[in-house]
Amino acid sequence: MKKRKKLKRKFLAYTLTICLTICILGLIYLGYRLMVKKENNISFLETIETTTYAEINKYAIYGIHMNIDGSFTLPEEVENLNLVLSNGQDTIDIDWQLEELENNSYSFKTSDYINEGIVLEDLPIGEYYLLIKTTNHDENNNETIKYYSVQNKTDYSDLEYYTLTKNNKNNKIDIEWNTYQEFPTLRFNIFETKLPDDVYDITIDPGHDAVDSGMTACSDGSTPDYYTGYCSSGTTVKENDLNLEVSLKLKTILEEMGYKVAMTRENKDDEVYIYEKYGSATMANDTKSKFNFAIHHNSSGVTGGVSYLKGLELYVANDINFDFADILVSEITKNANTTTSPKALYSVKDGIYQRFFTEEEIANDDVQPSNKTTNTIYYYNIREVGGISTNATNDGRYYPTYPKNEHYNSNNTAESYLFELGYMDNYQNLLNIMNNSEGYAKGIAEGLKNYLEQE
Ligand SMILES: [Zn+2]
Repeated sequence: MKKRKKLKRKFLAYTLTICLTICILGLIYLGYRLMVKKENNISFLETIETTTYAEINKYAIYGIHMNIDGSFTLPEEVENLNLVLSNGQDTIDIDWQLEELENNSYSFKTSDYINEGIVLEDLPIGEYYLLIKTTNHDENNNETIKYYSVQNKTDYSDLEYYTLTKNNKNNKIDIEWNTYQEFPTLRFNIFETKLPDDVYDITIDPGHDAVDSGMTACSDGSTPDYYTGYCSSGTTVKENDLNLEVSLKLKTILEEMGYKVAMTRENKDDEVYIYEKYGSATMANDTKSKFNFAIHHNSSGVTGGVSYLKGLELYVANDINFDFADILVSEITKNANTTTSPKALYSVKDGIYQRFFTEEEIANDDVQPSNKTTNTIYYYNIREVGGISTNATNDGRYYPTYPKNEHYNSNNTAESYLFELGYMDNYQNLLNIMNNSEGYAKGIAEGLKNYLEQE
């Protein structure tokens, strides 16, 4: 017994020593890392030109992309100009469109499209500064590289971004102004983090709710009563239920892919408000989601289940590159065994639609949205979710009829798509929708997966 106690004590002391050693080594390593990091930054930032700064006139995150517009005048003529993110050792070149306005005066933007620009998902861990890099050569071909920093000319300040969950991991990007001494700077600080409880990857908005059923159709192809929307033969199929069915399946598939998914409603008896917190116009941004998918089914109002319209219509934002929309259309039609809609109105590409307010709608409705034009996106699911990128308009001036969208003026918003998956008053289409909700859900999820792999 005694011997055993002694052994135990010895063992304890041994374990303690190992633990302490690991702790001390860890602290030394941490200290070393911090010192090296600090030193790099200092030596690096002190080489930056202080004669002039590029002015940033607009910047916005839409989905997984960040766009930056700016202008600058250089004190000298240069051979080469690049927009870079640099930490003094590694330099990431950023695609931009540069225009020389007059001698050594330039304007630039990272893209014409709101869903292009800096891919925030791809940035490596570290502290990077946004800089204009200039390169010159003298007569002996000696290279001179100079860096110019940027200053904030907008009303906006710091941004934070959480990357989509990949292998159970997330990075956070703090995009912060003026973090170094008195110099104007824009720092991208990228580090691994645990996703906060209230931050999500993707929001699904199953259209309509317990009080608003949306379109209805009859399971036998007959026509619902004009006034009640209910069927005298067959069962009444309600759009809100179909939307929820596809949405719940989509949620399951996306979660299997590892994403954290928020829903504006999850049960048939849930009520959804548009502009309140976690409403159908606000949920995606309340949860810092990168994508918002509004799921709907269509109707053309034709009786007898013989609507000539059928198939998929994907409604998208203004000023976007259609890469993601194209993939979504192709994956949905393939996986759900359906077609794109033949509807020509608002169509911009096969299966892709951009719906703006018409002159008539503007003349007839002076309320929502408050300052619309023929360039204002019709669907709030796209317009209001996108903040300044999609010219959201609901600033609260028509409260309480239309409460304020808290994100209307945000420069950090989700990329939003509205799916009209098929026509409920085309009987063939209705049968496919009723029997094949899994296929539609799979199509959307596969579309997202393929798009993210290519980005
Ligand atoms: Zn609907």
